[in-house]
Amino acid sequence: MLDHTTGMKRETIFVVEDETDIQDVLRYNLAREGYRVRAFGDGEEGLAMVRQDAPDLVLLDLMLPGLDGIEVCRRLKHDPITRAIPVIMLTAKGEESDVVLGLGVGADDYLTKPFSPKELLARVRAVLRRGPLKEERGKGERVVTGGLVVDAVRHELLVDGQSVTCTATEMRLLHFLASHPGRVFSRDHLLSRVIGEDAVVLDRNIDVHVGALRRKLGAYRDRIETVRGVGYRFTDAGGA
Ligand code: CA
Repeated sequence: MLDHTTGMKRETIFVVEDETDIQDVLRYNLAREGYRVRAFGDGEEGLAMVRQDAPDLVLLDLMLPGLDGIEVCRRLKHDPITRAIPVIMLTAKGEESDVVLGLGVGADDYLTKPFSPKELLARVRAVLRRGPLKEERGKGERVVTGGLVVDAVRHELLVDGQSVTCTATEMRLLHFLASHPGRVFSRDHLLSRVIGEDAVVLDRNIDVHVGALRRKLGAYRDRIETVRGVGYRFTDAGGA
């Protein structure tokens, strides 16, 4: 939809959340930022409306009456028409195992309740900015981020201009993470993406490779962030 006062396209965000107080908070904060917001209280209606109107982003609660958030997300991500629409899952504290499941069904990010408006808007902006996950994005590319250069083709890692030796697995892992800054990946996802069927890799424990990489990154070790109960995320240059 075009905003007639600014001439800018206003992004449409759908909120699928059954708790009316949280729905109100989301609606208020997003509308105040200039987003066009529509809210739905159950999974089936939310799914139908997303299919019909194709919003720019969906904020999807995990626990919903009828069709739960996981199932709604799974259906959206399996449908070629809606697959590219980014989904941020809303979860309650202590639902870490559900979070993993949420990421497994293709959610783009998640937000744990209770969250601050600042946190909400930061996640929304980040997900809208990067758009849907393109699995092949960055393949063969040279990633330059802060003081790091990760060149998968030349198998070269530069830390503040200094060449650092790393294994093929470490290179693939770092390149994959750095190609998708801000995105959380589960250990299983990283394992299948980075190690896959590679029989040469002796250690299939992703934490071991992350540990080795962090030592090599030195001052930049914290760029690979541990997301408790989920996996890892590469943080944007300049940090949070
Ligand atoms: Ca709920």
